[in-house]
Amino acid sequence: MVIVLFGKPGAGKGTQAPRLAAALGVPILATGEALRAAIREGTPMGLAAKAFMDKGELVADDVILGIIKDTLSSAPYANGAILDGVVRTVPQAEGLQRVLGDLDRRLGAVLVFDIADSEIVQRVSGRLTCDKCSAPFTGRTPGESCDVAGCQSGLGGGTLMRRKDDEPAAVQTRLDVYKEKTAPVLQWYERHGARIATIDAVGSMDEVTNRAKHALGL
Ligand code: AMP
Repeated sequence: MVIVLFGKPGAGKGTQAPRLAAALGVPILATGEALRAAIREGTPMGLAAKAFMDKGELVADDVILGIIKDTLSSAPYANGAILDGVVRTVPQAEGLQRVLGDLDRRLGAVLVFDIADSEIVQRVSGRLTCDKCSAPFTGRTPGESCDVAGCQSGLGGGTLMRRKDDEPAAVQTRLDVYKEKTAPVLQWYERHGARIATIDAVGSMDEVTNRAKHALGL
């Protein structure tokens, strides 16, 4: 089953994605993470995307659709996926539909994380991210070591830092971009008869996970 996690930047999609992926037994496709990995590796795609990402602007649709197509066609994704931060524009929604049609798969649901802008600004300003595994943290100090087990053993241990696009000016840009380009995607899905489930994204991690699982019938 393919599930699209939909909502403003900082709504908690990245926190909930691994929990829902584990519950469903499918992998995650997170375009933001794929792009950050490309930047770390210094690939041409990463170098081209970095300036847009640092400012909080969107990366071009054809780049994103390339990632979507390559990833969903690969073997680990044969049984479905949790899409985190993917489908941020109407052309991406149309492109995803085409890719799923070509692969003879279908969209299971769009899970909408509902949250006010004021809550986002407060949340993101306190968020740190591991520079190696990208796990999000709150209530920690920049420079501390990442304590995610797989990160320490697999990648040599990351350091907690503020993402450049979590700086206040970039957060405001990301919220503006969401309103202008991403919010209309939900109307597109409504018009195309997708199953849309909306959950309150404010609460403890476990509360939100339970709401999400309930909304997806898990
Ligand atoms: P995220 O980790 O999902 O917050 O994404 C970080 C940044 O990567 C975004 O602010 C965009 O610059 C870029 N990005 C990630 N996913 C997409 C997408 N589906 N479409 C366009 N840009 C994206």
